[in-house]
Amino acid sequence: MKTQQLYINGEFVDAAAGATLDVIDPSTTEVIGRVPDAGPADVDRAVKAARTAFEAGAWKEATAQDRGRVLFEIARLVRDRAPELAEIETRNTGKPIVEAEFDIADSATCYEYYGGLATKIHGDVIPVPDNAMSLALREPMGVAGQIIPWNYPMLMAAWKLAPAICAGCTTVLKPAEQTPLSILALASSFAEAGLPPGVVNIVTGEGGTGAAIVEHADVDKIAFTGSADVGKTIMRAAASTLKKVSLELGGKSPNIFFADADFEIAVEGALFGVFFNQGEVCSAGSRILVQRPIYKKFVEAMVEKAKAITVGMPMDRDTKMGAIVSLEQFDRVRQYQEIGKHEAKVASGGGRATGGALDKGYFIQPTIFYDVDNAARIAREEIFGPVACVIPFDTEDDALRIANDTFYGLAAAVWTRDIFRAMRVVKSLRAGIVWVNHMQPTYVEAPWGGYKQSGIGRELGKWGVEEYLNVKQVYINLSEQPIGWY
Ligand code: ADP
Ligand code: MG
Repeated sequence: MKTQQLYINGEFVDAAAGATLDVIDPSTTEVIGRVPDAGPADVDRAVKAARTAFEAGAWKEATAQDRGRVLFEIARLVRDRAPELAEIETRNTGKPIVEAEFDIADSATCYEYYGGLATKIHGDVIPVPDNAMSLALREPMGVAGQIIPWNYPMLMAAWKLAPAICAGCTTVLKPAEQTPLSILALASSFAEAGLPPGVVNIVTGEGGTGAAIVEHADVDKIAFTGSADVGKTIMRAAASTLKKVSLELGGKSPNIFFADADFEIAVEGALFGVFFNQGEVCSAGSRILVQRPIYKKFVEAMVEKAKAITVGMPMDRDTKMGAIVSLEQFDRVRQYQEIGKHEAKVASGGGRATGGALDKGYFIQPTIFYDVDNAARIAREEIFGPVACVIPFDTEDDALRIANDTFYGLAAAVWTRDIFRAMRVVKSLRAGIVWVNHMQPTYVEAPWGGYKQSGIGRELGKWGVEEYLNVKQVYINLSEQPIGWY
């Protein structure tokens, strides 16, 4: 199998050294691609291209309108190529094809949103005393290093690339080692869309490649999405060159059900919140808090509905849960299933999903533990797989105490028909995203990011582009009088 190339300065190029990584289809474990495991020399080459494009290239001269037009054009190409990109995404991640199609459409929407925003970035005029004027200009931060995970490869790339391009930055993006194929496939479309060489560079590799980006002295800013542990490592490494960092990390998000919630809709919301995308979602509603009067019935109804979830081959349009992305992640989820059996009671699932074609791949049964203590490991540690913890509670105060008793603070949801209660709970939850009577809808127009150890900074919407902008204050003296101090 031919090794793919890195995308640097608008061209596909070989890596400096020969190390490679096999890329698999986790539903069959077949090797479907091979990419370079880029080293520091490759990263340096990509950063130089990005720096040149930023300082001297066509990008510096590009107007906001130009940047917007390029983003619209990227969006159009993503939409034109959607069937091909969705299939690559599904083969590489194991996610159901129907979900991959959503992801590709969402990523096009993201490029479009930031295409529109490009012409709306502007500064402020600040009224100051004295005969003077103060301006706040907003300028692109420079070269961004962007490191993304494997759960939504195309979408996470869009969340990173689109606001950076919109701001006028240039970037070096590293996809996750498990899932580099879709963004490499898209790369040829960047030049076609009119993006000047060097604005977007893509280097493939493992954590070491990411570390080389973080340590590179000529990178101005790091945007990372991934695990909390790696986020902390990145923040420490970024300190040596004092890079700006934005981090979107994990979660152990509470999904809270009060007894007055619409029962049937709520049960589906509990399952959707945690099993969507095989549970490989940073905002997964993995702690399901249910008020005591409906608790037993709720668990039973969840089990009933969970049985009907089709775990199947990802390319099958009826599949609701596909394969887990890698053997490493599959083992990790399996381990937590075993830990859970000692910590709580199994309501359903608890093992790998088997039968027919599933036997070859990394499939996991949707798993529901109940009577879970919030202090249990399965309730505290992010599993990133289809494992739900159901926890009973009595009062609103109990629910809030349990919900907020976590180091994380990415997302939360509350289900109730009582608007007073809903708003009290919304106010008290320590999370960056709170849904009322739903869980997971995400819009490019609205901010996304974590409280506490779930991250730093916000992505999407007008907030997302701020992470790529510096503010420059300009003072203009309007008085021709001497300063008169000496
Ligand atoms: P997971 O645990 O699911 O693999 P990670 O947080 O390890 O999630 O990975 C997310 C991204 O971070 C991937 O692109 C990975 O290669 C990258 N990464 C891992 N370790 C480091 C590191 N020390 N520095 C920079 N990037 C890293
Ligand atoms: Mg990792």
